[in-house]
Amino acid sequence: MKYMASLETFKSLSPAEFFYRNREIAGFSNPSRALYQAVRELVENALDATETHGILPIIRVYIDRTSNPMHYVVSVEDNGIGVPPQFVPKAFGQVLFSSKYKLRQTRGMFGLGAKMAILYGQLTTGRPVEIITSPVKSKRVYFFKLMIDIKNNRPIVLEKASWSKKKEWHGTIVTIALEGDWGRAKSRIIEYIKRVALVTPYAEILFKGPDNSYFYYPRVTTKLPRPPREVLPHPYGVDLEAFKMLIASTQESRLEDFLVKSFQGVGKRTAQDLLRKIGLPLDKSPKKLSLDEIKVLVEEMKKYERFKPPRADPLSPIGAELIVLGLKQILQPEFVTAITRKPAVYEGHPFIVEVGLAYGGAIESSNEPILYRYANKIPLLYDEKSDVLWKIVNELDWRQYNVSFPAPLAVLIHICSTKIPYKGVGKESIADVPEIEREVRNALREVARKLRSYIQKKQKVEETYRKLTTFVKYLPEVALSLEILSINPETKEKHVDREQLIDKLLKVLSKKISEVKVSRDLINKVIVSIE
Ligand code: ADP
Ligand code: MG
Repeated sequence: MKYMASLETFKSLSPAEFFYRNREIAGFSNPSRALYQAVRELVENALDATETHGILPIIRVYIDRTSNPMHYVVSVEDNGIGVPPQFVPKAFGQVLFSSKYKLRQTRGMFGLGAKMAILYGQLTTGRPVEIITSPVKSKRVYFFKLMIDIKNNRPIVLEKASWSKKKEWHGTIVTIALEGDWGRAKSRIIEYIKRVALVTPYAEILFKGPDNSYFYYPRVTTKLPRPPREVLPHPYGVDLEAFKMLIASTQESRLEDFLVKSFQGVGKRTAQDLLRKIGLPLDKSPKKLSLDEIKVLVEEMKKYERFKPPRADPLSPIGAELIVLGLKQILQPEFVTAITRKPAVYEGHPFIVEVGLAYGGAIESSNEPILYRYANKIPLLYDEKSDVLWKIVNELDWRQYNVSFPAPLAVLIHICSTKIPYKGVGKESIADVPEIEREVRNALREVARKLRSYIQKKQKVEETYRKLTTFVKYLPEVALSLEILSINPETKEKHVDREQLIDKLLKVLSKKISEVKVSRDLINKVIVSIE
């Protein structure tokens, strides 16, 4: 057999060029999806810049038309911490540059979102991004116009300016022109904003679309979830490479101190115990460890059982109270309940599962539960069926909980973690992780049980009401017949008085009623309704 004898040529790609070529994996696959994704990335940055730092968010989202019917301008404004001017070019012009590569729960985690929207805008409209920002405590406002040098993954600053602040303001406004399809993206974008508002009742959110559609979600509480706190890595969550990076950045000269200072959950005594077990000197310099020693250390750390479990400090759950508030406000159900589970761990990463249930009221009946998925407070709208959460909700035998479909049932599931196991960088669906699955299942059962007792009670009340209605309907007639029967034909004397009998029977009824906790008003209501 003959081979073609030509030689392959080789080259490397900058991260910007890689994501430019593969933008669909970050959610920028077509104009409709790109418009949705751009709104999403900017809103998520706005929320990270506010809520994560203890600021009650005020967020405004505008989408405007341009003279080109295919092009739109998306602008998102927040009252967040702002971006220091020296970091603006890289934060918005260099792919994989972020302030969120930390062990702390944030919506952003890849250092990609804003840049993908900017990149997409740049390649579809040729226009630069505009950023206006003023950091907290800064006396100035900064303006930048920039593009991304895709080949070299570098920002190109086209214009910059700054002026002193006239009024007290801190925050950021990001404006991007991009090709979009509002007609197709509209319903998703509006649903997205609604779902954001649902879990952020402490935020004020305004949305204005290009067709003058207008949504305003006022702040309904000033209670903010506890902001996440940055933590050190846990020994269970660190692999060989991560361990090497920790060694490279440590100032400690003794192995024992290095372990205590670089990890959470490791005290002096556990560090000593572990090192003795492995047979490594406590005072060996971490930088002098051989690769084999590091391998053993990492393996043994994963097996060691006496570390404290990973802390929940870096997490910021929504909290059952706010979930209930949000569900009430947005869905107006007749019944609502929610729980926040205790922190759990997978592969050394802490996570918390929260589940809310809303039933009846303004919720429309459908053939399966309406599912509201959230990860680190981000609503997930696409790829629902490939998400493990969808699978769990639909595998539950709802009949066991007195729900038979079609039913007006909405389920909200929130997972927060320092590492959400997304299936892709577009952050749309969650992969199967047994520990997470188990937690979600338990949480779901817990709230479903509460729903069951509510539905049971409601059914009992309805049943009683039905029985009562029948009984009370015939009561006056029965009483009259008894009165007639009791008349002595000779003396014409009555042994039974109709009115008295009605009173007596009502008393008996009341007793029965109180057993099932139905108020006395009910009987009066029934009498009035049949008269
Ligand atoms: P990520 O959010 O994953 O970090 P982005 O590309 O979306 O990646 O944003 C890059 C960085 O720019 C963020 O880490 C943050 O430091 C900064 N940033 C972006 N938008 C804002 C904003 N609205 N307010 C403050 N900082 C922002
Ligand atoms: Mg982001």
